[in-house]
Amino acid sequence: MFDIIIIGAGPAGLTAAIYARRAEKTVLVLEAKSYGGQIINTPDIENYPVCPHISGFDFATGLYEQTKALGAEFVFEKAVDIINGEKIKEVVTEKGKYQGKTIIIATGSENRKLGVDGEDRLIGRGISYCATCDGAFYRKKTVAVVGGGNTALEDALYLSDIAEKVYLIHRRDTFRGEEATIKRLKEKTNVEFVLNSTVTSLNAEKRLTSIEVKDKDGKVTQLFVNGLFVAVGRIPETQNFGKTVNLDESGYVVAGENCITNADGIFVAGDNRVKSVRQLVTATADGAIAATEAVKYINQF
Ligand code: NAP
Repeated sequence: MFDIIIIGAGPAGLTAAIYARRAEKTVLVLEAKSYGGQIINTPDIENYPVCPHISGFDFATGLYEQTKALGAEFVFEKAVDIINGEKIKEVVTEKGKYQGKTIIIATGSENRKLGVDGEDRLIGRGISYCATCDGAFYRKKTVAVVGGGNTALEDALYLSDIAEKVYLIHRRDTFRGEEATIKRLKEKTNVEFVLNSTVTSLNAEKRLTSIEVKDKDGKVTQLFVNGLFVAVGRIPETQNFGKTVNLDESGYVVAGENCITNADGIFVAGDNRVKSVRQLVTATADGAIAATEAVKYINQF
């Protein structure tokens, strides 16, 4: 029986574990994949206070080591359900059951697919969702990035140093991502903006050979690319918890800045919570708040 079970070992979950351990609570972190969450795929974090440059991998590894050194336990199993008993709460995984006094859901989000025919079949054969993982395969080749958020902008910037040519395809003519990154992309001579356009077709033999993009006037253009990096946002990983906590219409866990959900003793932290700014700094902040609230909850009994 743990004081706090944290589901998810991304920045929110790991920060929650640090705060919980420093409050001398026993902590189990359950993680379906590997530690780090989505930040592990970010090539260069430039907007975290006191870290003008750090790779997502180094950030995540440092956080994981810090959490382990403080004595949090880790089990790498996917949580599939929560049984919310009054005093004892259980997290059911694909392999077992773990009991805790409180639970923090810090499961983050997963890649949204583009939804174009052939996308799944071409994953690893030209389609990628992670520029830092797969960018090196496209040295001196031509690639496209699709999306208009920070991920797409940062991926395009990263790939512009590796690939010969980078198309940045976005369905509108204004971006969601940071102005500073847009400015740097505009200075790159090998980056071409393809705006007001959507990817309508993927052409392949064994691997992706070209894509077709349609602009707002209906004109279709074929772009010969070796790789397409899809960065069209994320979907909250909350599907297994909808019967335990309230979710909004997009699947985000409903909770305010205090990270307290509608379910007694169950808290949420990070990108899977309803919020307006989803950044590394807000994820770690959520972790600190959720753990502090969980500790308060335990101490009242
Ligand atoms: P995002 O901000 O939600 O942007 C997704 C982009 O994909 C949007 O531009 C959207 O277009 C476009 N899109 C969505 N569905 C599409 C479709 N079916 N076809 C074509 N385009 C589509 O997602 P993100 O860039 O992954 O970022 C997620 C969060 O993480 C954001 O809050 C972001 O700021 C944050 N982040 C932060 C950092 C950092 O702090 N360094 C790095 C990466 C990400 P519209 O704009 O037209 O809706």
